[in-house]
Amino acid sequence: MQLVLPTGHFSIYKSLSQRARVATEAWGLENLYCPNCAEDRLDGTPPNTPTVDYICRVCRSAFQLKSQGTPLSFRIVDAAYSPMRDAIKSDRTPNLFLMHYNRTNWLVLNVILIPRFAFSLSAIEKRKALGPHARRAGWVGCNIRLDRIPSDARVPIVAQGCATDSSEVRRQYARLRPLEALRSGSRGWTLDVLNAVRGLGKRDFALSDVYALEASLNRLHPGNRHVRDKVRQQLQVLRDLGLLAFLGHGRYRMTPERSGNEAARESR
Ligand SMILES: [Zn+2]
Repeated sequence: MQLVLPTGHFSIYKSLSQRARVATEAWGLENLYCPNCAEDRLDGTPPNTPTVDYICRVCRSAFQLKSQGTPLSFRIVDAAYSPMRDAIKSDRTPNLFLMHYNRTNWLVLNVILIPRFAFSLSAIEKRKALGPHARRAGWVGCNIRLDRIPSDARVPIVAQGCATDSSEVRRQYARLRPLEALRSGSRGWTLDVLNAVRGLGKRDFALSDVYALEASLNRLHPGNRHVRDKVRQQLQVLRDLGLLAFLGHGRYRMTPERSGNEAARESR
């Protein structure tokens, strides 16, 4: 994977944002690959195709690339709120590549992949409507809350200027793929409980550890009075998906997010 953004035909574009868009889109065509099958290139979609920038010619997976010159923090500014909410509800979100590049030397520093089935309504945040004097007065945008997406589902493609092996990316994607089979309505709870459990930062944990997060889960699902029942039900779903194991007596163990090799490489 080449980590320098192609800036060859830059001179015809005046604005920095135009240059960045052209360079990052061209980089994706040359370097991004399908995490869902063995295809090593993605095809571009016709200009102005809404929300989809690339498509895999083999498995037809759809992808969007969003890039920014600032580090990826826990909140990413996205497009309009209602179409995003509707896309999540009807299970039409594309896979999302998020890129952070250096605006001075045009190097790709970080790229993460969020699989299309890892978006829950909790992960999008409605922004305030634009004021009456804005060009698009009343328009409502949204943010993607990366901190509300389980760490399993923020798959590193490039981390601190180092590309991850494509085999490792495909392994991580395949590990989460069973989430795709859940109905989009119930998948939100599964993702929220997985995120809560990952947030504990422990390999082994107790049911009481997850119950301690009841208030924050309740904030994501106001009106649900049976959060503890939901937690127990979703822990079973996560076990059936192979993401954790029951140890008995209210104890649980997470399965590793990454292969041993990958974890060792990152700690070096
Ligand atoms: Zn594919």
